[in-house]
Amino acid sequence: EPLVEMRDIVKKYGDTVVLQGVDLEVDRGEVVVLIGPSGAGKSTLLRCINGLERIQSGTIRFAGEELVYQEKHLNQIRSRIGMVFQSFNLFPHLKVIDNLMMAQVDVLGRSKEEARERAERLLERVGLPDKADAYPDKLSGGQQQRVAIARALAMDPEVMLFDEPTSALDPELVGEVLQVMRTLADDGMTMVVVTHEMRFARRAADRVVLMADSGIAEQGTPEQVLEHP
Ligand code: ADP
Ligand code: ADP
Repeated sequence: EPLVEMRDIVKKYGDTVVLQGVDLEVDRGEVVVLIGPSGAGKSTLLRCINGLERIQSGTIRFAGEELVYQEKHLNQIRSRIGMVFQSFNLFPHLKVIDNLMMAQVDVLGRSKEEARERAERLLERVGLPDKADAYPDKLSGGQQQRVAIARALAMDPEVMLFDEPTSALDPELVGEVLQVMRTLADDGMTMVVVTHEMRFARRAADRVVLMADSGIAEQGTPEQVLEHP
């Protein structure tokens, strides 16, 4: 079964229809990149996956389990889904290491030693082994976003959702974040990524989904969707 399965999704804000009858499936290990013009509903679709947005009709299943808008259930589903936003959203008063440890201890109930070990391993993985004791505001935007990715990974998510993760970065810092995402994709992580970085889409995506006019206009391999004659 698909890890994420969305059927006939309708999402409105007031009278404005943002998603109209959208179907999307994401298999385990698949990297799906959502592209399309601003306002097409990419971010909304992404946020529906973990129940950050409530849909008006349709069904969403995560690992076969239907999403219901009930706090306990949503928390349980969200604990299995990692999300990275455009703004890095680190806790400014906590050192990098504590940013990475906190939810591991508080939500997953890991021991501090275990959480620290996992945090240190992930900092190495995102190329920041020497930043454990730094505060977020001492880091570049690219470094902060890599910490945010590490923090999400620390929870051992089954899927990672990225909502324009490089859009707030200075151009020279975009590559280091995409590189981390690329490695993650190569390592088999299931990912759904909203981005305008076509080079990333071309190289990292198993499937590119083009959104327009409240729905999916086209989807296929990067070659099929991006290399029009
Ligand atoms: P994209 O990510 O493709 O740029 P969004 O999903 O952010 O598109 O937005 C889709 C549409 O929904 C836009 O027209 C946007 O103005 C509208 N929208 C998004 N969030 C809200 C909200 N909280 N309230 C009202 N309208 C919203
Ligand atoms: P490559 O060796 O693949 O041509 P680089 O060495 O320039 O690419 O960057 C390393 C990886 O980071 C690349 O595989 C690429 O996917 C990603 N990357 C770096 N910068 C960008 C960018 N501006 N847009 C998309 N992907 C990028």
